[in-house]
Amino acid sequence: MTMDGPLSGAAADILEGLTPSQRDAVTHETGPLLVLAGPGSGKTRVITSRIAHLILNAGAPPWSVLALTFTNKAAREMRERVAGVLGEGRFARGLTVTTFHALCARLLRRHAEEAEIPGLKADYTIYDSSDQSALIKRVISDLDMSTSNWPPRSVLGAISNAKNELHDADGYTASSDDYYTRQIGAIFKGYERGLRQANAVDFDDLLVLTAKMLRDRPDIREQLQTRWRHLMIDEYQDTNHAQFVIASLLAGDGAPVPTSDLPPIDDDGGVGDGDGHVDGPTGPNICVVGDPDQSIYAWRGADLSNILDFEQQYPGARVITLAENFRSTEPVLAVADQLISHNRSRKPKTLVPTRGPGEPVEIVLVQGEHQEAELVADWFRGLHDDHDPALAWKDMAVFYRTNALSRVIEAALREAHIPHVIARGTAFFDREEVKSALAYLRVVANPADEVSLARVLNKPARGIGATTVAKVRTWAGDAGIGLFAALQRIQEVPGLTARAQNSIARFVEMIEGWTGGGTFMGAEVSSTLAELAELVVRESGLEAHYRKQADVSGAEADEERTDNLAELVSSAADFETTFDPTSDPASAEIAKLEAAATAQAEPAIEAPPLLAMLRAYLESVALVADADAVDPEQGAVTLMTLHAAKGLEFPAAAMIGLEEGLLPHSRAHESESAMEEERRLCFVGVTRSMRHLKLTSARYRTVRGQTDRTIPSRFLEELGREHVVVSDRTDVYAAIDNDAPIESDPVDIERGETTTAQYKRQFPAGTPVKHPQFGLGTIVTVIGGRQPRAKVSFQAAGEKTLVLEYARLTRVLN
Ligand code: ATP
Ligand code: MG
Repeated sequence: MTMDGPLSGAAADILEGLTPSQRDAVTHETGPLLVLAGPGSGKTRVITSRIAHLILNAGAPPWSVLALTFTNKAAREMRERVAGVLGEGRFARGLTVTTFHALCARLLRRHAEEAEIPGLKADYTIYDSSDQSALIKRVISDLDMSTSNWPPRSVLGAISNAKNELHDADGYTASSDDYYTRQIGAIFKGYERGLRQANAVDFDDLLVLTAKMLRDRPDIREQLQTRWRHLMIDEYQDTNHAQFVIASLLAGDGAPVPTSDLPPIDDDGGVGDGDGHVDGPTGPNICVVGDPDQSIYAWRGADLSNILDFEQQYPGARVITLAENFRSTEPVLAVADQLISHNRSRKPKTLVPTRGPGEPVEIVLVQGEHQEAELVADWFRGLHDDHDPALAWKDMAVFYRTNALSRVIEAALREAHIPHVIARGTAFFDREEVKSALAYLRVVANPADEVSLARVLNKPARGIGATTVAKVRTWAGDAGIGLFAALQRIQEVPGLTARAQNSIARFVEMIEGWTGGGTFMGAEVSSTLAELAELVVRESGLEAHYRKQADVSGAEADEERTDNLAELVSSAADFETTFDPTSDPASAEIAKLEAAATAQAEPAIEAPPLLAMLRAYLESVALVADADAVDPEQGAVTLMTLHAAKGLEFPAAAMIGLEEGLLPHSRAHESESAMEEERRLCFVGVTRSMRHLKLTSARYRTVRGQTDRTIPSRFLEELGREHVVVSDRTDVYAAIDNDAPIESDPVDIERGETTTAQYKRQFPAGTPVKHPQFGLGTIVTVIGGRQPRAKVSFQAAGEKTLVLEYARLTRVLN
């Protein structure tokens, strides 16, 4: 399909309004393509349009297209937009738009057993960070080590890094011989064993096991390559090594994955089995888009060389740059450009503004976090009530470096009656009662999941104490069986009280009742996911337990817990109605489609529908990320971390906490490259704004209960001054907050004209003031200019002219 000749209807619509370069990228149908361009230049739009173009104009079957996004939310939006163009019917036939993690979860579900990944069955569980930490603590104590010498978090961090480099426990230990590494290696081993015994994987495993499976099983790899003829990846600058390997192996026919160019996947050799070759200038249909200046996940293993070396990896790849920015006004773009130009290890690129001029970017210096929060709330209120054109709440966002900064700003918005949501995707599922109900469901889906089993055995209390569990665990270990299997044979376990045995027998009976005897095949008790969830919440006793607790305490928080359990049932019901089995590469339906298309006899693995649905539901819950909670439809201001803001855009954005140690984060002082990553993070924040941008820096900030003097972020200086106004509001509270020392700013921020105006407002003629040296006096006048001054008539010292910035003048309340 070429672009010659007129197109009609929807086919033409897809290309309408695109720039020539965007069009080139959208209509480039075969061979590798790299789109390298700055923020707001339409990279994501190119991917969306490409999907539509490939399907509608180029005749690609929807199921042959795979697009990978960074968040579930981005995937959902992209699917919706494509559906909007193509119409639901055609679209629904198996197009895959998803995240790397979700894709891998599905691929493992479908192929783990066939690929004989040791210890992994299709009904595996995904462990989240609290499950991981429960497991690692058990492993550390089993090894007679202490968690104070081996803090679970840092041990898990080391393991995660190793996994992302595709090392397993043996590979990890093999690379070094010091005591520390050996000990971590031992924990790593125990941890891996624990995961496999539980038929569980952690987040890293999703990627790593998939990468290894694709490498080691040419049959599975080729089958997937045959299916997905068009691979697209957004935010490619933030892919890690495992993701890079997966992308390379999936890229399909002619995907050059030369063994020598890739770091070994493991200790036993390189990627691929030697059949990867460079396919000349054509190569696979892999299209990646990204912006090296927006790479913000190096700390989690993202590897910039994936994008920088794309052309080497795929010789003859087409490279398209997009030069126009369609998002932000000139001042926003100009300060972003100034800022990022301070990074030394980068290739400069130009972004041409197309949105025209706009208001300058505002930097506001405030006294503390409360003033900062009120200031942001006031600003939003003004944009909503008094601005022309008025902004909706959903058009506004607050970005911060760490979640801890959200508390005060949230309180201020609540106080100001401004609807707002915090983008914390997992918040709901992290609640104790919800976690417990989910743990029951996880045991139902996978009885080997011992972390979940341990969580629910005695929740609510049913007389199965820790001693009993320990005895059963030991017996299970000796018998070489899992905990649940041991519970099923509880009569054989010696040394238990009759009461404990009875409780356990009833517990097992209850679980088996939900699964129809363990297989779901004969499940008559429930037919839908929501019904199953309802049964679990009720029969487990959780609902009654929390209701009773609420009756006793009368506390609202306890009332809420029963509501949350009901909400969980609703979430299962919602999931059921929106679940699209054809978008699931593991579904039997898609297998049939593929089989028909590729003339392959495809063994469809048919899980009982309810079990398949339950697995998919639990998986979606496990893969929820903060950014997924951003929902403009909610009509609320969104509060989120800078990391979660990637890829988004808002007409008005406030970035708070522009202080050394926060942004740049204290971690950045470790190295120049870490500092550059912080600068990129700031750049990502700035470039989210379409029109209004305010950055705040507090002179004092309370962190962990301790109030400290801060230093304004170096990034504030680096924004340049041409498109910036700085206003200093730190003195507003000076007269009230007499304890706070009033000092000049340690960083020389040049004051603009607005500052003079502010001083004039702050110190109108006649204002009674106090000076630390000259004592009490009255303002005669404020004189503007680069360094605004005040003429003051002091009672004792007579008339003096003082530079306001340094004068430490405070207003005196009369
Ligand atoms: P980021 O790097 O931040 O992810 P991006 O390059 O992916 O940005 P998009 O989000 O695709 O950029 O586009 C930014 C904005 O510009 C969106 O609102 C998009 O709809 C709009 N846009 C993209 N291309 C065009 C165009 N040709 N004409 C008008 N608007 C466009
Ligand atoms: Mg984008």
